[in-house]
Amino acid sequence: MKKILVSACLLGYNCKYNGKNNLNEKVIKLKEEYEIIPVCPEVFGGLSTPRKKSERLNDKVISEINEDVTVFFNKGAEKTLEIAKKEEPSFCVFKENSPSCGVNNIYDGSFSNNKIIGKGVTTELLENNGFKIISELDLI
Ligand code: SF4
Repeated sequence: MKKILVSACLLGYNCKYNGKNNLNEKVIKLKEEYEIIPVCPEVFGGLSTPRKKSERLNDKVISEINEDVTVFFNKGAEKTLEIAKKEEPSFCVFKENSPSCGVNNIYDGSFSNNKIIGKGVTTELLENNGFKIISELDLI
């Protein structure tokens, strides 16, 4: 069976910043065709759950209480890349809008619910290493 890497929150893991998940039935259905490897870069990076909401701002990631959490996000991205290199997934399905996993859009760093075109830290690193990433919103 071919493998895919999937944002763990889309599979129902409660690893989202608020301790909840983003369970998505279309993503669950992929289990019929692929071996699923769940990843949560923010947990891999050492952040606790629940945790403060964070957004990318230029080359940093800042939490809603203005802490610079870039190092945790970079560490999580590196760990996810390590897993991707080992597992060689056909593609990855990542959670849109997340500062780690966003594929087409992210929040703009102002914590005012504005989205901009951009990618999460992990998505960017994996794409730069040749991995194909799609957003859960692009699943048919
Ligand atoms: S880092 Fe990715 S997998 Fe983890 S909760 Fe955020 S969107 Fe989901």
